[in-house]
Amino acid sequence: MRIQFLGFLLLSLSGLMPAPAQAPTQALAKAAETAVKGPALEPGEGFAVAEVNGGVQVFGEGRKQGPMGSLAKLIWMEFEGRDWGAQALLFKCTGKVKDHPCGLPKGHGRVDLPKALQLDCDNAFLAWLQMSAAMWRDVYGDGPGRTRLVEAFGPFLGKRLPAGNDLQPLDGAWIGQGELLQTSPEAFARWLVDPAQENLLDHAKRNLNGFFSDSSWWFQVGTAPILGEVGSARSWVVGSDGRRVFVLSLPPGKNRTEGLARMKAILGLPAK
Ligand SMILES: [Zn+2]
Repeated sequence: MRIQFLGFLLLSLSGLMPAPAQAPTQALAKAAETAVKGPALEPGEGFAVAEVNGGVQVFGEGRKQGPMGSLAKLIWMEFEGRDWGAQALLFKCTGKVKDHPCGLPKGHGRVDLPKALQLDCDNAFLAWLQMSAAMWRDVYGDGPGRTRLVEAFGPFLGKRLPAGNDLQPLDGAWIGQGELLQTSPEAFARWLVDPAQENLLDHAKRNLNGFFSDSSWWFQVGTAPILGEVGSARSWVVGSDGRRVFVLSLPPGKNRTEGLARMKAILGLPAK
């Protein structure tokens, strides 16, 4: 036994054995260093870092507010993720439901909750939140159901919620299409690490990991409309190493893939 171990050790030392992946540990160390020193941002980028149970650091245009787009899905995960997960929901995305085109014109196919989140499938989330709203209406009634919704989304609604006392219509605005839900990197980072969001970081880690060999990392990439510019969008990237959260907003013209690449570059992480 001991001889075998010694042989293994010698082979490892001599470089004949493949070295175990070092990337996550090195990356973590480097990311910590980057966050402390200040990230290298490009013009138009906004960035915020928040410690779980700690303060928020803001860089670049990190205080600039704008439509939150797909980040709204993380709010739904906090709000309904446990119920939806327990129901093992499935949705078949064909690309379009009524007037709501999904991000991928040919559709995302059959998606469960993790996949809908990873692929940013608007139509699946829209179907599931409408299902939830119908249930609240039956169980609580319109008014209390609306109160629940306003409490969950309060920090992102400002004064933009149309007056009324009913739950209709829960449309694409509630998954971040349009300008109803808005945030900044700073505000979203602060919300993510707020202890009131009991389960969100766990949900996100479970559904969005798969980056590097270190499962504590996760990222969510999304797009949002730009205020006053019809038809144009900008990307958001949110991520965590399990101890901190990172929120990046990108200037117009960067797509989802480029957005994720920028987040990794800013954090000093390997591309894969
Ligand atoms: Zn879809």
